Amino acid sequence: MAYGAHSPFPPPHPDLGLARDCAQCLGWGTVVTRDGDHELCRTCQPDQGDGESGLRSAS
Ligand SMILES: [Zn+2]
Repeated sequence: MAYGAHSPFPPPHPDLGLARDCAQCLGWGTVVTRDGDHELCRTCQPDQGDGESGLRSAS
């Protein structure tokens, strides 16, 4: 149980090298959705897979 956190999720970590010349996110690598959430820019950031279940099969 954590108190005092405004956002339940940490911001995504974009690859700024890829975002540098992106006109969609203006170099930030993230875009703000209409809900006010930050998400990776789909124009310049590689797809990191959808659905973060937090579970990963150990290989
Ligand atoms: Zn971008």
